[in-house]
Amino acid sequence: MADDTGIEALIDLMARLPGLGPRSARRAVLVLLKKRAQLMAPLAQAMAEVALTARDCQTCGNIGTTDTCAICADPRRATGEICVVEDVADLWAMERGQAFKGRYHVLGGTLSALDAIGPDDLRIPRLAARVADEHIREVILALNATVDGQTTAHYIADVLAPSGVQVTSLAQGVPIGGELDYLDDGTIGAALKARRRF
Ligand SMILES: [Zn+2]
Repeated sequence: MADDTGIEALIDLMARLPGLGPRSARRAVLVLLKKRAQLMAPLAQAMAEVALTARDCQTCGNIGTTDTCAICADPRRATGEICVVEDVADLWAMERGQAFKGRYHVLGGTLSALDAIGPDDLRIPRLAARVADEHIREVILALNATVDGQTTAHYIADVLAPSGVQVTSLAQGVPIGGELDYLDDGTIGAALKARRRF
């Protein structure tokens, strides 16, 4: 067992990561300590660098290291389709599936009366502006099948109705009660193909 305060502090920080409890954090730190040159130093350097450069994409809310993320900067992704997701984890899940060729809009959460989260907290006004500016034909809602997720979906459909853009949703029941991130890649592709008018 480590008795050095610096090492203990590192273990405490690592234990806050999802999927790592105190035991796994201790094991991970021990591996790092044993591989200081090959693993720990490059990891510390990479983390310090990304901590300084990481930022939200000004257009879609994806996380990258530039003001415009790689997806928004890629002209091939200008397909006239925007896929709306709650969180960056959902965007990454969609990208893993490689089924969607358009661009994204990350809301950063869902409307929630309980937590006092309103449309202005969620990049919804920005979405409406993008639909007009980027000549969007279809907005695909890929929100979680939770009450808040569906409330948010209906709100967005109402906001976008005057624009005349087609609003669709991933096949019903696919992201059941869970997050998109937990779906396997093939399921995401199937849900996208079977999307329907919202
Ligand atoms: Zn972007």
